[in-house]
Formats: sequence, structure tokens, C-alpha cells
Amino acid sequence: MAKAEKQETAKGESVKDEKNCVLCGMCKTVCPSFQSTKDEKRSPRGRSQIIKKEKEPDMSFYDCTLCGACTASCYIDVELPLRQQREKLVKAGKETEANKKMIENIRKHGNPFGEVKKGDKIDELYCC
Ligand code: SF4
Ligand code: SF4
Repeated sequence: MAKAEKQETAKGESVKDEKNCVLCGMCKTVCPSFQSTKDEKRSPRGRSQIIKKEKEPDMSFYDCTLCGACTASCYIDVELPLRQQREKLVKAGKETEANKKMIENIRKHGNPFGEVKKGDKIDELYCC
């Protein structure tokens, strides 16, 4: 099926959000968090339903890599507000331990790894 022309606002933002998602599931094949867990809740379609039902996001939204593959593969160009779900979690004080550590390291040492001396090998890599 040919892709419809993408509709955007004057600011270049997508006008198709979770309300337009028809739950077809075509995006599941390209979603790394679904492919690695096989958990519907961790698929774009599952996330779309959670957002549609205005349920509070849970920690599973951190499994979303924000890669954008779901939007790129969606035949009607739905762009789910995934970053905003993370923002809600952060505002509610719900963060992963790795994320907390990374932020602490950046504040204290100016980098995500912690104290690093010349010649040191990095043992731990933190990411959100
Ligand atoms: S985001 Fe697009 S491809 Fe994915 S389930 Fe919704 S309509 Fe289908
Ligand atoms: S942005 Fe998130 S939900 Fe979409 S394909 Fe990537 S990991 Fe999956």
C-alpha cells in the first residue's frame, strides 16, 4: 500500500498521534523493544493503547529506544508521543537506576561514566 502524504503542522510536527492509530500492528515487526521481549505492552501498538486509554506510563516505556522505526514503518504516519511518556515518568520521579547514576555522574564529573583518570578503562556504561 502506498504511503499517504505526511501531514504536518506549520511547525513541522506530526498531526497524527495515538488517536489515529488503527491498531493494525504492522509496526511491531520493526520495533526493537517488542522484538526482544515479544511483549505486546512493549510494542508500539501496545503503547498506543496505553496512551489512548490515558493510563499512566509505567517503567516499560523506558524499554522504548525512541528509535522512530514505528513512525517510519506506519503506513499512515502515526507518531506516538513516546518522549512525552518518558517526561511524565521523570516528573513523577520514576527513573531507572542506570539513568539516576548517569545523571549523578554528569553532575559530579561532567561525563556519564563517573571519575575517569587518564589511562583508565571504562567498566560500566550507563544509559537511560
Ligand atoms: S502505529 Fe501505525 S502501524 Fe503501528 S499499530 Fe498504529 S496504525 Fe498500525
Ligand atoms: S520508537 Fe519505541 S515503540 Fe517505536 S519502534 Fe522504536 S522502540 Fe519501538
